[in-house]
Amino acid sequence: MLNVPSQSFPGPSSQQRVASGGRSKVPLKQGRSLMDWIRLTKSGKDLTGLKGRLIEVTEEELKKHNKKDDCWICIRGFVYNVSPYMEYHPGGEDELMRAAGSDGTDLFDQVHRWVNYESMLKECLVGRMAMKPALPKGMLPQSQVTDTLAKEGPSSPSYDWFQTDSLVTIVIYTKQKDINLDSVIVDHRDDSFRAETVIKDYSYLVHVALSHEIQEDFSVLVVENVGKIEIVLKKKENTSWKRLGHPLENHNAFIPKKDTGLFYRKCQLVSKEDVTHDTKLFCLMLPPSTHLQVPAGQHVYLKLPITGTEIVKPYTPVSDSLFSEFKEPVLPNNIYIYFLIKIYPAGFFTPELDQLQIGDYVSVSNPEGNFIISQLQELEDLFLLAAGTGFTPMVKVLNYALTNIPSLRKVKLMFFNKTEDDIIWRSQLEKLAFKDKRFEVEFVLSAPTSEWSSKQGYISPALLSEFLKRSSDTSKVLICLCGPTPFTEQGMKMLHDLNFSKDEIHSFTA
Ligand code: FAD
Ligand code: NAP
Repeated sequence: MLNVPSQSFPGPSSQQRVASGGRSKVPLKQGRSLMDWIRLTKSGKDLTGLKGRLIEVTEEELKKHNKKDDCWICIRGFVYNVSPYMEYHPGGEDELMRAAGSDGTDLFDQVHRWVNYESMLKECLVGRMAMKPALPKGMLPQSQVTDTLAKEGPSSPSYDWFQTDSLVTIVIYTKQKDINLDSVIVDHRDDSFRAETVIKDYSYLVHVALSHEIQEDFSVLVVENVGKIEIVLKKKENTSWKRLGHPLENHNAFIPKKDTGLFYRKCQLVSKEDVTHDTKLFCLMLPPSTHLQVPAGQHVYLKLPITGTEIVKPYTPVSDSLFSEFKEPVLPNNIYIYFLIKIYPAGFFTPELDQLQIGDYVSVSNPEGNFIISQLQELEDLFLLAAGTGFTPMVKVLNYALTNIPSLRKVKLMFFNKTEDDIIWRSQLEKLAFKDKRFEVEFVLSAPTSEWSSKQGYISPALLSEFLKRSSDTSKVLICLCGPTPFTEQGMKMLHDLNFSKDEIHSFTA
């Protein structure tokens, strides 16, 4: 379905696509980049054929527009004429045509729920559906939502609140044991208070316009063994509140996460330092009125307006160094998010990010991802296979494993790069291996200089079978992979061929 370049990343002419032993190539059409699309949308051309009118579309009408040169698609109740976009869609015309003349919401959500199609396709908007086939589940009548959940998912949390003269405490009863400070994301803005609790693949929202003003900072406490979350707000004035506030969208609803939109808050760039010739460590500061912790192995989306269109790309937070021991972060100190980001001079997003000055803002989404930290419990051998910035999810996983998993016997990282200059945090990795005897690192270079005497080449069955030695025949193993998509896909296949089971492999993807 709808796409932005990261889905076709690495770009067609990027070095990552140089063919070698079955590595993938993607055809490139000149003049059909995202920038070309944005230019077209700003040209004033009538892209819907409706001369700026918005219409109500019936299901019968939608069905008629099912050809490449006349293709309408409905996403979340809004209908777009995507024919002008066909040639710009990195996923290809065929992928878009799968939803031609129909409701493409599910297909869209399966592939890239996070893409901000509202902004990308705003000039293609035909109108709203007259019926409501695409309403997100969160907007179903509450009774229907509860019915669906009863059959499929965990039981719904509930909330309550109480007050003293100076404080208001909102209590969320999750009825789950494995709740921690990562599980709840709180944002307070002038007009809304929003606390999202993530339970497995579901999201529970307390979303209200508070009845009185509160101070900017608040605290979040979790009583893990009973799954209770307390959010303590400080009143601006010591008056008694008659009610918490009035409900906003999806308040008190418990809905599948995939049916919720991504929520963003603006974060300030506080530092940026060179790590390699092309990769930088960015530090963003969360607003004081946000509580957000990104779990190990998960990513967020960064959003920037680029020539008037909001562009979104995924990035994986890291710790500030490999030596920041993993601790349960405690508010209010946990306000910084670090990213290792490679700047591609001909890329679309990263040069803009690199242009930001200290003090500028970038929007950061809620975390996403399917890595579950409990996969590390009782683990004996952890193997990490990373290529380039595919190293980023490994940082927190590595920190977490070395600090929190007593059963761990060894952690081995095989780190694939083009040249020595491309290796992120090389000296930190070597120091860590020296300091902690459970950790080993091997660098593999695809284009080394003649002085390089260690491993070279690409991911291969020979390299993997030599590297992936269990500490005992029965040891509990996890292998994590991340890098360019073809690297990850080839790696997965090789691991299956080496008889590692599905449960023993985790690949990081969008
Ligand atoms: P793009 O515009 O996507 O271009 C990338 C390269 O392809 C450039 O060299 C460009 O020249 C070439 N290219 C693009 N389009 C064309 C074209 N039409 N013709 C020829 N060449 C082209 N990256 C990080 O650095 N750090 C992270 O922590 C990180 N985490 C990620 C997490 C996830 C889940 C995923 C999926 C990706 C992650 N990425 C990360 C990658 C990131 O999302 C972006 O893909 C990356 O930053 C490139 O974005 P860009 O817009 O600057 O480059
Ligand atoms: P890079 O420097 O281009 O590549 C790193 C190493 O991998 C190089 O040795 C490269 O060899 C090799 N390589 C590239 N394509 C390959 C392939 N098809 N098969 C085998 N080896 C291959 O990498 P990068 O620019 O940092 O890009 C990192 C990638 O990781 C991006 O695609 C990014 O989206 C992805 N990423 C994903 C996540 C996630 O999903 N969670 C997180 C972070 C990053 P050559 O250079 O010699 O070709």
